[in-house]
Amino acid sequence: MKQVTDYFGSMVFDDKVMKSRLSSDVYKSLKKTIQDGKELDISVANSVATAMKDWAISLGATHYTHWFQPMTGATAEKHDSFISPEADGSIIMEFKGKELIKGEPDASSFPSGGLRATCEARGYTAWDPTSYAFIKDKTLCIPTAFCSYGGEALDKKTPLLRSMQAINKQALRILKLFGNTTATSVKTTVGPEQEYFLVDKSLFDQRKDLIYTGRTLFGAPAPKGQELEDHYFGVIKPRVQAFMNDLNEELWKLGILAKTEHNEVAPAQHELAPIFATTNIAADHNQITMEMMQKIAKRHDLVCLLHEKPFKGVNGSGKHNNWSLSTNTGLNLLEPGDTPISNAQFLLFLVAVIKAVDEYQDLLRISVASAGNDFRLGANEAPPAIISIFLGSELQDVLDSIETGVALKTKGASFLKIGADVLPSLPKDSTDRNRTSPFAFTGNKFEFRALGSADSISCANITLNSSVAESLKEFADILEKSKDFENDLHNLIKKTIVEHKRIIFNGNGYDESWVGEAAKRGLLNLKSTPEALPYYLHDKNVKLFTTHGVYTKEEIKARYEIAQEHYTKIVNIEALTALDMVKKDILPALSKYSKELADTVVVKKSLGVDVEYEQSILTKVSEGLKKAYEEASDLEKTLDKKDSFTKIEELSLFYKDEVLPKMASLRDVVDGLEVIVDEKAWPYPSYGKLLFGVR
Ligand code: ADP
Ligand code: MG
Repeated sequence: MKQVTDYFGSMVFDDKVMKSRLSSDVYKSLKKTIQDGKELDISVANSVATAMKDWAISLGATHYTHWFQPMTGATAEKHDSFISPEADGSIIMEFKGKELIKGEPDASSFPSGGLRATCEARGYTAWDPTSYAFIKDKTLCIPTAFCSYGGEALDKKTPLLRSMQAINKQALRILKLFGNTTATSVKTTVGPEQEYFLVDKSLFDQRKDLIYTGRTLFGAPAPKGQELEDHYFGVIKPRVQAFMNDLNEELWKLGILAKTEHNEVAPAQHELAPIFATTNIAADHNQITMEMMQKIAKRHDLVCLLHEKPFKGVNGSGKHNNWSLSTNTGLNLLEPGDTPISNAQFLLFLVAVIKAVDEYQDLLRISVASAGNDFRLGANEAPPAIISIFLGSELQDVLDSIETGVALKTKGASFLKIGADVLPSLPKDSTDRNRTSPFAFTGNKFEFRALGSADSISCANITLNSSVAESLKEFADILEKSKDFENDLHNLIKKTIVEHKRIIFNGNGYDESWVGEAAKRGLLNLKSTPEALPYYLHDKNVKLFTTHGVYTKEEIKARYEIAQEHYTKIVNIEALTALDMVKKDILPALSKYSKELADTVVVKKSLGVDVEYEQSILTKVSEGLKKAYEEASDLEKTLDKKDSFTKIEELSLFYKDEVLPKMASLRDVVDGLEVIVDEKAWPYPSYGKLLFGVR
């Protein structure tokens, strides 16, 4: 039997392959590029390209592609074969250094938010050598960033890499202050836990809503939902297990550290968590994971739904972004240490995050905003739309003691002065920790839980990295000038706690009272994407990104436009799909069904048989049919107004405030009919079949 250790990473041009296939000089220059971001000399690039091509061909590849992440949220690839004609009519397989380093996809149809006029359509892709090339579907994929010729970022990777540089720079300044001379780089690490649903493909194919929008726009609840809590961590069904085994194997071949798999809370819902990696690699890997989930599901006649809320009435899917910082020497900067000085350093990084989350709660909310995620955030299942931090009582006690100056005494330990005392031990990753918090400290990392399941993790991490970089910058500016480091450090940490403790909330985030309490504290509660997005352009946020070189002002504006437009397009597609389903399938089915009932009533009556059941259903169906027709016409009329808006922010508010509520009331009527109509007469497979159909 083949062993995982034998094939793990077999489709990756990783360090081991580089070492064996490159001359030692070329290997050394490439390593330098990877480690320090030094530009690659063209002759070196030529050697690397040839080695990559030979390796890829030996594994059956025929094509290469620059693999990138445009602002559509998906990944993009344009395949070119390695073939090159010779004078005698034969071909050779060729791949040049310049093709490795730079690509020029005709990119005029990718969203650019006005950054690039269509007449100068050709953006370019540039290799990110820190993320290894890999083979997928006989194609050598080269992870790349995607920019315009003016240098503006047109993708999600470029700003992510910039934000990693920003936090690296500021974190190193802080480490230096603590006397750390060995660390030469600080990288953020991420482990994204990915939730998803699996449904039977034959059922999926019968639902236009799933096909066009990824979520059900209609559907009455099944008699059973998730109330028995019997699915969470339950025994995995054989068909699902077969899918998971296949998925793991493909991911492992691609060097992706798929680690944990389990059933989630909702029926048909599952999760996969990898072991964490450097953020840009984690982002690439998460994209590949989502792609593989969808591809491999098909092999098992399943469809993987990545939408945040595919079904009403059961939990939606999110992504937990476990985030930390570590040095190239392997030190996790959010891990409490066991000496006074390492504890002091930990506390400074901790309050840097607290300050960042408080000051940029709007940006963090925006980083997870999407039409799909709006159905999760704030509903009683996902973290609320209010951003707050959970620390746990042990760490809270430490911060309280720093703030009040009253010594903290716990089992055999006492803590008062930063830099002098050792922290009492903190529990790591206890299972009873608060699951309702959007941003929880979990022992040696923070878990940002508000991300949507379908989203790239880039936006959330760009924001986290940039905002924490800003806290660290402000801290370093102060402490570098300090004459009494220990004292100033203590005061800085204390001051930061006092100024930003409003963002800390250790209670139940699902509790009604939290909404009022949060408002009293002045925390934002941005319930929807159209309400959240305008904060993107606030001065403090523009300043944050421009100061740290993550976005230019123009890039922010472009991203804002794209996000707004994307939202309006999504809701528009959903509304059109709902109308299509009602007009072409649901109303005709109901009309036909009422005729059947009416015929039965006539026949039975003529025989003198009781028709109470048929008569009563016939009345209800006829009334419902009329109501559904009216609601659909109303939605259609409302939708007609869309062309009257000139400002994108008005248009997106229109979709939220007028279109979505109309869709919801149409749905109420239709779902009410589904529960009284003969299942065979209903045009779509039921929630019961979709959620419990995979065995
Ligand atoms: P949960 O109880 O939240 O499901 P898991 O242990 O399943 O927790 O997942 C935790 C995730 O956090 C894993 O993906 C793990 O690799 C990741 N993780 C652990 N340490 C770090 C770290 N230092 N930085 C980033 N992610 C981390
Ligand atoms: Mg989990």
